[in-house]
Amino acid sequence: MTALLLDGKALAAEYSTEVADRVRVCIEAGVTPCLAVVLVGDDPASKVYVGSKGKRAAQVGIATRDFRPSAAEATTASLLALVAELNADPSVHGILIQLPLPPHVDAAAVLAAVDPDKDVDGFHPYNLGLLVAGEPRFVACTPQGCMLLLERAGIALAGAHAVVVGRSTIVGKPMAHLLLGAHATVTMAHSRTRDLAAEVARADVVVAAVGRSELIRGEWIKPGAVVIDVGINRGADGKLRGDVEFEAARARARAITPVPGGVGPMTIVCLMRNVVLAAERRLGAAPSA
Ligand code: NAD
Repeated sequence: MTALLLDGKALAAEYSTEVADRVRVCIEAGVTPCLAVVLVGDDPASKVYVGSKGKRAAQVGIATRDFRPSAAEATTASLLALVAELNADPSVHGILIQLPLPPHVDAAAVLAAVDPDKDVDGFHPYNLGLLVAGEPRFVACTPQGCMLLLERAGIALAGAHAVVVGRSTIVGKPMAHLLLGAHATVTMAHSRTRDLAAEVARADVVVAAVGRSELIRGEWIKPGAVVIDVGINRGADGKLRGDVEFEAARARARAITPVPGGVGPMTIVCLMRNVVLAAERRLGAAPSA
């Protein structure tokens, strides 16, 4: 068996067209959706992510405002002040705090200060709580993108056994709740899981969000399973690899996301979806999330 490739690049392009149409409607109604991007310091990976987000925003007609304090000048207090200013600015619809923040900054306090109505990353405890309550309002972009990939591939989740590897607040935990909301039976595996191979081998759907190159061996994948690889790991050879041993997993799976070109582009387009949704809500014309 060779798995169907879940092409996130192509699907993200489709969703971009949809977002661009919605942005046009907002602009015609007098509101230009605007994303404020706060990037502290000069972490190279963060710069690349912020660059890709800015490019996609420009493509779909979303305005961006960049704030780039140096790591030396940024403090918890200065970032809280910046967030308060952006919260109060009616021309800003979404606020993105690029993670990681430097260790001397209280990242949890900064994220919790973002107005939940502008929390387009879906990291605010209020929005995370709504997701857990089964009433999602802003859903974190990466798990949202994974769900759209599964939906487009027509993967039936109700009753399926899904294994999410990784329990971060930005990927693993919201992913597990979205899968639960879609009626999957969900197992969360993490660094203390005793027998990861056995957990993965039982999965109809595997979502890998760890950040360790090829941790998930191809031979663990149940024949016919669906594999969503969130991991992004740069090898010594400079190549990007996922958390899943791709070729070996592809030979057993029914469908699999490539790295790059799978989840990554979906994350970015889901951020754009959240920004336009925030603007639509401001206009009182929001469809459901
Ligand atoms: P994180 O470091 O916050 O969390 C990693 C999780 O993996 C932890 O919960 C930990 O318990 C688990 N883990 C660590 N070692 C393990 C092991 N040996 N076995 C099982 N579980 C283990 O990472 P994150 O922010 O959730 O990101 C995970 C990966 O996804 C990274 O590679 C990151 O770059 C990537 N990522 C990609 C996108 C995208 O758009 N494609 C978005 C966000 C994150």
